[in-house]
Amino acid sequence: MPMPTVTFEGKGYVRQENETVLDCLLRNGIDVSYSCKSGVCQSCLLQAVSGELPKNAQIGLRDTHLARQYFLSCSCLPNNDLEVCRPDAAGLRAPGVVRRIDLLNASVARLRVHCPEPPAYRAGQFFSLIRPDGLVRSYSAASLPSDDDFIEFHVALVPGGRMSEWVHRDLKRGDALDLQGPAGNCFYVPGNPGQPILLAGTGTGLAPLYGILRDALAKGHSGPIHLCHGSVNSGGLYLDAELRRMMEANPQFHYSPCVLNGNGDDGIPQANIDAYALSCTGPLKGWKVYLCGHPDIVRTLQRKAFLAGANLQSIYADAFVSSADS
Ligand SMILES: Cc1cc2nc3c(=O)[nH]c(=O)nc-3n(C[C@H](O)[C@H](O)[C@H](O)COP(=O)(O)OP(=O)(O)OC[C@H]3O[C@@H](n4cnc5c(N)ncnc54)[C@H](O)[C@@H]3O)c2cc1C
Repeated sequence: MPMPTVTFEGKGYVRQENETVLDCLLRNGIDVSYSCKSGVCQSCLLQAVSGELPKNAQIGLRDTHLARQYFLSCSCLPNNDLEVCRPDAAGLRAPGVVRRIDLLNASVARLRVHCPEPPAYRAGQFFSLIRPDGLVRSYSAASLPSDDDFIEFHVALVPGGRMSEWVHRDLKRGDALDLQGPAGNCFYVPGNPGQPILLAGTGTGLAPLYGILRDALAKGHSGPIHLCHGSVNSGGLYLDAELRRMMEANPQFHYSPCVLNGNGDDGIPQANIDAYALSCTGPLKGWKVYLCGHPDIVRTLQRKAFLAGANLQSIYADAFVSSADS
């Protein structure tokens, strides 16, 4: 049986065995945006014009996307011929302007983007930031839509990283920056105000966790909330003073930073975050757990949280995967 064809802008491309629609188009020199290549970031959305989409190519998409036959080209292995096009950019993108950009520590930039028509989102969800040349990367929202008239992102500088170096070195106040999204399920869900919550992550995994924390407190969460933020050394921690202030003002909130390399002189324990987070909380039966940041650490924490008694449905995770991880 011949391999199915992907038709794009009037031209047909024969897929190779086990090749996704995205890889088929990239192999044929077509410039399609993508980032994680793992079905997470939604940067590679395309729209089906004709043909049947496999179900797993639409996992996690919003109803409005499903209705328009949008799909994740990085997860799409169709059994039949498919005609696809770029999604209607106007319907997906929110134009924004950089309101402010500053450093939270030596390698994390706080980027605030004002959108005249802000997309509806929940603190902790993530957006694709779209550079004017089309490069796309995902970043999680640390802002609170009810309080902030900007969307805040924390961008870690990755040496040699195309987007993060550009954000750190070139982007400035007043520059235009388009957003696409939101996406993701890592956000506070009201309705169980007494339930204990664990928020754990490393590096800029703090961005969504900080957003979720603010949202939970703003919505009157009264049960214990433990935030464990890990870093290689104390220079990698950030928002430390702000989080300590929040802890003083909210007796139900506990902030526990830890570092891999340190001697404890500054009061910050030296510990692996996976062991440390669980030593702060004890058994997790009945807890809601949010895990964000480095993919390996998120995976380890997921497993350990489950073994400590957390229900799988109560563990929400956003692993900051890049295409190199897939
Ligand atoms: C759902 C989601 C949410 C995310 N949220 C955030 C966020 O809030 N803040 C944030 O800073 N990032 C976040 N990321 C990661 C972000 O999307 C980019 O992957 C990251 O900024 C690197 O992009 P780049 O273009 O600078 O690097 P690339 O040009 O893509 O990569 C350059 C090189 O660096 C390597 N690399 C990529 N990422 C890392 C890394 N984190 N550490 C070490 N090496 C790396 C790559 O393998 C490659 O070799 C998120 C990712 C996902 C999927």
